[in-house]
Amino acid sequence: MALYSHTQLRTFEDCPLKYKFRYIDKIKKPEEQTIEAFVGSCVHAALEKLYADLALCKQNSLDDLLASYRETWEKNWLPSIKIVREEFTPQNYFDYGAGCIRNYFERYKPFDQSRTLATEAHLIFPLDPPGTYKMQGYVDRIARRPDGTYEIHDYKTGRSLPSQAEVDSDHQLGLYQIGLQARWPDAERVELIWHYVGKDTLLRSRRTAEQLQSLRQETIETIGRIQSEKEFPPHPSGLCDWCEYRPDCPVWKHVAAMELLPPAQFAADEGVHLADDYAKTKDEMDRLARRLDQLRELILEFCRQKQASVLAGHSVRVAVKFGERTKFPGKNDPGRESLEEFIRRLGRWEEVSDVSASELAKILQEKRWAPELLEQLRRFATAEPTSSVHVTRSKDREE
Ligand code: SF4
Repeated sequence: MALYSHTQLRTFEDCPLKYKFRYIDKIKKPEEQTIEAFVGSCVHAALEKLYADLALCKQNSLDDLLASYRETWEKNWLPSIKIVREEFTPQNYFDYGAGCIRNYFERYKPFDQSRTLATEAHLIFPLDPPGTYKMQGYVDRIARRPDGTYEIHDYKTGRSLPSQAEVDSDHQLGLYQIGLQARWPDAERVELIWHYVGKDTLLRSRRTAEQLQSLRQETIETIGRIQSEKEFPPHPSGLCDWCEYRPDCPVWKHVAAMELLPPAQFAADEGVHLADDYAKTKDEMDRLARRLDQLRELILEFCRQKQASVLAGHSVRVAVKFGERTKFPGKNDPGRESLEEFIRRLGRWEEVSDVSASELAKILQEKRWAPELLEQLRRFATAEPTSSVHVTRSKDREE
């Protein structure tokens, strides 16, 4: 039975194709670690050591912890670790991480607020009674206070603080609470705690039984969508800049391949030629379409003034026609409702109403009806290949 994690579900929500590459096709990519993730892992390791040693009655001093932090840093440091913000050095980031540990240590020493039950706890838990849908997750620390309240701790080294509303709707720790209560059924009161150690700030949240139930339901629905997904379409967004699958993704593969080419090879690429020619031709056609509209208006005006209906040119004649067409209020226009009511009253509705094929296609595509109705509707639909071409402007490689 498939086991899902919060990260997995979020990947699917962000981009179904990325989910497919990572979790179904299992395409492995060389990990490109960022300095932010590296600092986070070193700080986590130091705080894990703090509580693991406390379990054996050893309380580390701040200097012990900082020495352990330095050791982890030096042992795991790789020159390939990416520093995006070039104005900062590895030393700046090292000092930031040390500051995170100092903040935490000073705030909680002698660490007797609660009893630690587990660090880096691996929870596997069902979302429904038969266990058809299962989740897993790693919790930084689980503890129990003297009054019996269980605590789920999450250490954050990032620099931006979420709002209380954001932590109150956070899915990850909410799911961990479901896992905790499956493992410790006596846990009636549970508190979710985020330690923003870089900011020396603590955020807390609690979940009601109803909130947990709707989180379960929502998560089961997401898993259901993953399991019934057939297409796994790409969902381009700002996150693509950090996606390791750009070279495999249809949205980015040509762009990513071209980024690596020297100017001469880039200019000789057939795809580059086609894109340039298409964009140039389309610009020209748009310009001509605008000119055609303008000429049409000028001709109509000229003919109105001269009361003429045909203009003579060099071996051409242009004919114009003035007239009227009957118009009724459209679907969203005022007056539509009364018109429909009038026709129904006459008993003539069947004569004039029509099924809109494009509206039905939209209903299917946007899943507007209940799943069983969509399934019945789908039986009348056939799939026809479609294609379209759009031009967007990019700053890179401008001539
Ligand atoms: S590059 Fe963007 S669209 Fe393509 S798989 Fe990655 S996240 Fe999805």
